Amino acid sequence: MPDRSLRNLFLHHVAQTSDSPLALEITHAEGMYLYAEGKQYIDCISGIAVSNVGHANPYVNQAVKQHVDKHLHLMVYGEIIQSSQVMLAEKLTSLLPPSLHSVYFVNSGSEAVEGAMKLAKRVTGRHRFVAQEQAYHGSTHGALSLMSEAYFSQRYVPLLPGVSFIRQEDITHIGSVITDETAAVFIEPLMGEKGYVNSSKEYLQAIRKRCDETGALLVFDEIQSGYGRTGKLFAFEHDGIIPDILVLAKGFGGGLPLGAFVASNDVLKSLTHDPVLGHITTFGGHPLSCAASLAALEFILDKGLMESIPEKEALFRKLLVHPRIKNVSGKGLLLAVDLEDTDFCRKVIDGCVKDGLLIDWFLYAEHKIRLAPPLIVENDHIKTICGTIVENIIKCEATTGTL
Ligand code: PMP
Repeated sequence: MPDRSLRNLFLHHVAQTSDSPLALEITHAEGMYLYAEGKQYIDCISGIAVSNVGHANPYVNQAVKQHVDKHLHLMVYGEIIQSSQVMLAEKLTSLLPPSLHSVYFVNSGSEAVEGAMKLAKRVTGRHRFVAQEQAYHGSTHGALSLMSEAYFSQRYVPLLPGVSFIRQEDITHIGSVITDETAAVFIEPLMGEKGYVNSSKEYLQAIRKRCDETGALLVFDEIQSGYGRTGKLFAFEHDGIIPDILVLAKGFGGGLPLGAFVASNDVLKSLTHDPVLGHITTFGGHPLSCAASLAALEFILDKGLMESIPEKEALFRKLLVHPRIKNVSGKGLLLAVDLEDTDFCRKVIDGCVKDGLLIDWFLYAEHKIRLAPPLIVENDHIKTICGTIVENIIKCEATTGTL
């Protein structure tokens, strides 16, 4: 008898990204929890910063159900007036600075980054880009060109030429790297895959200033840090430094696939002519995704989710105490627990997953635990999450030896 278990079919017919997929067989998810084979898991990563409003959120589900009966896909992006898309664009831009008032909808984060790169080329007539060391902007060729880590990009060369890198917080080289040949500077205000590392106001201000001097566009990638995660709708709001282009995805879709690059009308207009259709996307801004996104946004605002985030962050920081924990970085509900030792960190993560707590590591920081729970996380969850992590640190120490 062939093995027709879902697990076996998954391993044989669903293309794999590594030799060690998590491979939990999830039957359903609700609120803070995932359910797999009769076991309940606390979700402390939100499908990597996606499920900000929790799983099976009734507002989002209701909005999607209502929209399903109206229509699904109608026409490629940009041709047809679709209510959910228009309402979302209007609501989103009402919450952004006046210079960010036009939204180009796409399908994903990588596509939004590609769109922003193309837009910057069109607006400036330049083709050079600057990005940060250890940033992650996506997996398509353009986005991959903005990645400094050769391990992930070297097998895909040639990538886009003319990309230079700056180190987060190092303002000494900004003047020489960002020049009047730079089309755009891509910044994650709170760096994700580097292990949730916040940027200082001085650093962001210096970059903003240099972009203004040189005419380079400043792009903030808030694909992970946006939609309420840090206690503001967008991380850039903490310091008030405004980008020329804002790039969104992940939590922005409310659980469905959606991305966007947001800029002024004047900037975005350049994609409409010479040639027309400067960026073409069939499913960009899918009506169901926009309905989900708008419902998620309204839920975040109506429930005051962002207001409670500083208190939740403080509780995480208070409870994540152990000599093995060297530091907790990040902001709001994007936190990274630094255990300094990659093998040890892996063991702690595996132990937590066995104990029903879903946590993860980072692309460039395998010695850190990623914490990005849904924003609906409550104090009791936080106590359980931190308790499970500390217990597993103690258990791993007992098996691997002390400090
Ligand atoms: N930028 C950042 C900061 C991200 O975290 C990600 C996804 N991890 C992306 C871009 C790419 O998004 P997507 O996977 O939707 O293409």
